[in-house]
Formats: sequence, structure tokens, C-alpha cells
Amino acid sequence: MKNNSKFWVVTDLDGTLMDENYDISPAKKTLNMLSELSIPVIPCTSKTASEVRYFRKENGLSDPFIVENGAAIYGTNINKISEWELILGKSYKELRFILKSLSKEINYNLIPLNDLSYNQIFELTGLSEHGIIRALDRQWSVPFLNPPDDIFEKVKLICDSYNVHVFKGNRMSHLLSKESHKGQAVNKLKIHLQNLDVMIIALGDSQNDLPLLECADISIVIPGKNGPNKYLQHGIDNGSFLLANAPHAQGWSNSVEEVINSFK
Ligand SMILES: [Mg+2]
Repeated sequence: MKNNSKFWVVTDLDGTLMDENYDISPAKKTLNMLSELSIPVIPCTSKTASEVRYFRKENGLSDPFIVENGAAIYGTNINKISEWELILGKSYKELRFILKSLSKEINYNLIPLNDLSYNQIFELTGLSEHGIIRALDRQWSVPFLNPPDDIFEKVKLICDSYNVHVFKGNRMSHLLSKESHKGQAVNKLKIHLQNLDVMIIALGDSQNDLPLLECADISIVIPGKNGPNKYLQHGIDNGSFLLANAPHAQGWSNSVEEVINSFK
């Protein structure tokens, strides 16, 4: 399978294209524009494949998608029914075991999302019942409750010896194999679709988007209502990342249009 597009828009979803209520409406007209220009919009998210399939259907997207923070990539085959799949990560079961070992080593209980009750997950995510079922359909990463910053830094220091990464998203942290992160997934997708020269326009809002922003040609940080994430500030300050002029879908839309128009 080959892709000849000059640009790919590779985007995080939560907090980037979507606001805290999962609304993307300010970006709809830009999504239509990209579709008219045949520029792929590739979700690159910590969400599960089940969640992104649903999202694509709702929003009329048909391009490949990167899930579970870069641990797996999917796309629709030419028959438009079946999917192809690339796996970069370790299995959920293996990662659960590692999360337990990490907890023991730092003497702090890292709690997996899938261990919470329906009500607790609703409080944390605001998702509907079906939304929660899709969110729990994890195959290649383990989301866990955000620990305090000092604990998170401690986990980061020891995860090398377990061959895993941890990333902090908006609502949760994520444990995944060292072989998988959002940047590695984009590179793997370029090879798979035989498009090594494609220009990557990447958008993200959190620490888990750093590898994506670092591998991109044009990297856009989407701020929240209180400004950009502190882990992305360094890249903004040294000029590697652009900062959108508004939060979430509005900032997404403004930045993508500005970049695309600058190439016209
Ligand atoms: Mg995000």
C-alpha cells in the first residue's frame, strides 16, 4: 500500500483537537478543507483502536490511525472493510505485570485505569457507558492514574531497566514498551506507506506528544486554557515548536490553516 501525499496532519486528540468535553466543532471546517485537498488527517492518540474507530466514523475520517500512544497503527484496506495492523508494543498483560513491579520498587501504588469502577472512570473521563467500554479495550499500553509529579519523575528514572516508557497525558499516565511511542509510530507508518519524504505537520498538547512533535517537520503545540503544557515549553522557547494562538480545536484550526496556506 502506497501513499503519495505531500503532507500528513498527524494529531493528538484529547486536549489537542478535542477540548475537555470531547468537542471538535471549531475544527470541522478545517477538516473539510483538508479532505478537499486530499491531505490525510492521522489521529495519533493514547486512545484505543475501538475509540478511534468510533471517532473516525463520527467525523468522516478514513486515514490510518495511531493508537495507545504509538503502540499500534491501523488502516483500512482497499476493500474498505478489513483493516491492516502494525504492532510496536508489548502486550497489555505483560505491561500490567511491569506496572506492578514498578509500584513495588518506588513504594507507591500506580493504579491502572482498568481497575477503577465505572463511576470512578466516569468522574475522571466524563465518558458515556459505551465510551468507557471502548476506552477499556486496551491491547498494547496500560493507562494509570496520574501520580504526583515527584513520583512520576521517579518512575521515569527506573523504567529503562524494565524496557518501558511512561508518558503523562491530560487525564492519565501511560505505560508502554520502549519500542513504541508516537514518534516511532509515525516513522513506522511512513515506511509502511512508502512515503519517506512526506512532510509531517504534528499537533499535540501534552508530555506524551513530545516524541511526535520531535519527529515532525512542523510541530504545533496546542495550549490549554491556562497556556501550554510545561513539558512542551522548552521546545516553544527554543523555536522548535510553534504555539497555537488559541486552545484546543480553535487553535488547531487556526494553526493548520496558517501552515497549509503558507505552502499554497
Ligand atoms: Mg493530549
